[in-house]
Amino acid sequence: MGQFAVIGLGRFGSASALELIKMGHSVLGVDTDGKVIDKYADQLTHAVIADVTDRAALEELGLDNYDVVLVAIGEAIQASLLCIVHLKSLGIQTIWVKATSHAQHLILSKLGVDRIVHPEEEMGIRVAQALSYPMVNDYISMGNGEFVVEIDVSERLEGVPLNQVLQGVPDSIHVLLVKRKTQTFVHPSDDFALEAKDTLVLLGQLNALKAIAPKLA
Ligand code: ATP
Repeated sequence: MGQFAVIGLGRFGSASALELIKMGHSVLGVDTDGKVIDKYADQLTHAVIADVTDRAALEELGLDNYDVVLVAIGEAIQASLLCIVHLKSLGIQTIWVKATSHAQHLILSKLGVDRIVHPEEEMGIRVAQALSYPMVNDYISMGNGEFVVEIDVSERLEGVPLNQVLQGVPDSIHVLLVKRKTQTFVHPSDDFALEAKDTLVLLGQLNALKAIAPKLA
């Protein structure tokens, strides 16, 4: 179980905090707005009213015990930046920040935060990819152009063995597993026969994955 602190419980911060709770982590939520804290107090591990532009208030939160501090203050850029400066001066190890502009991104990267998140842009890219490849349920970038993707198998491939489906596909693509209802088949053999509604989890270079996705749909 991880320990996370989320500063700013707007739409982005509260969604991140609640998802972390769902995943079984411990989450401290912080906001200046008492109404916001009241709203989430029952759902988070701890919820505290504090103005994070105040270094002393931030120090009192004991954030050095947390794995990651996520600063999710968007519009109030000055407050977000001041909070980061204080977190850095308090020696907080891992800081993730929501950014809303390129200017803010530039300053944050100079301040040495660990990850800068651009939710609107990142979501826009995911939506465009989902529109373009509707058969791809989900994906994770592994770096170096490699991705793990989850693809639903078309009903027309019922009974077809994997080696036939993957004929002509570059060797660089690996079938990591097949999901079938509640079962999971890890590294399925070449003659593994697919069933309708199976889901394939593949690892490979993006271009090769793009070429194979339509074959499975
Ligand atoms: P979203 O789009 O995620 O809803 P936003 O980009 O509109 O958020 P803001 O409304 O600026 O972001 O801030 C998100 C939350 O951060 C708000 O609930 C706000 O009360 C809180 N917040 C703003 N300034 C501070 C501060 N100095 N200390 C603590 N919390 C703050």
